[in-house]
Amino acid sequence: MQVRIDDVGASTKKYNQHVKSFPFCSVFDFWPLKVIWPFKGWGPYKELTLKEWQEALSFFEKNNIKPIIAITACWVERNNTLTPFPKKFPGQANFLKEKFLQGKIEIANHGLTHCVVGKHLPKLVGSNREFHREFWSYLPYETHEKHLFASQKILESFFEKPITIFVPSGNIWSLSTYQALLKTGLKKVIANRYMQDSEEEMQGVEFIDDKEGWLVLHDRDLKLELKKP
Ligand SMILES: [Zn+2]
Repeated sequence: MQVRIDDVGASTKKYNQHVKSFPFCSVFDFWPLKVIWPFKGWGPYKELTLKEWQEALSFFEKNNIKPIIAITACWVERNNTLTPFPKKFPGQANFLKEKFLQGKIEIANHGLTHCVVGKHLPKLVGSNREFHREFWSYLPYETHEKHLFASQKILESFFEKPITIFVPSGNIWSLSTYQALLKTGLKKVIANRYMQDSEEEMQGVEFIDDKEGWLVLHDRDLKLELKKP
C-alpha cells in the first residue's frame, strides 16, 4: 500500500468552499452554510502545523510507511499574488526538507497554484470547485509550461534534490501538461485518470493509476484525525 498526502501548501484549503454533494445540497450552497458542518464540503481548514507534521510523520515512520507528500509550490493570496511554500510555511517546509533528505518521505509536485488564479476566491452562491484544478485542457500551453517550470524551480531549489513525481490537482491534466512535462525532470504522473483530452501514449513520462493499491489522503484528513482526542 502506497500512501500519498495531497494539498500541502495549497490555498485551496482556504478558498475551495462548497457544500457536500449529497442530494439537494446545491440548494444550500450559499455562504455561510457552505462553511458550516454538516454542509461544509471542503474548506476552509488550516495548514498542518509543524507539531502536527512531527506527529504524523512519526506515526508513518513507526509503521514503516514512506509517504509521498504532494506539495503545491505557492499559496495564492486574495489579490492573486503567489507566495512560495518555504516562505509561507518555513517551519513545516524545513521539517519536510529534513525528512526528504533523510529518505523518510518522498516529495511530489502538486502544481504551482492548485487553481486557476483569479477564479479561486469563494463565491457567495454556488461552488468554485472546478477552478481549484490547475491543468485544464482549455488553458493555453504556455500556462501549463509556466506553471510546471515555476513550481519545479521553487521546489527543487528549496529541497536541493530532484523532484520527479507530478500529482495533478483534482486528477485533471491534459496533452499540454504532458508536452510541458517533457521539458522538466518530472518523470511520473500519479492520478486516478489519464489526460483529459487525449489517449496518446506517453514517451519518457510514466502514468501511474492510483485507483488501486493506494491510500490517497489530503492534509485535510490528517488535520481532522489529529484533532481527535
Ligand atoms: Zn489537491
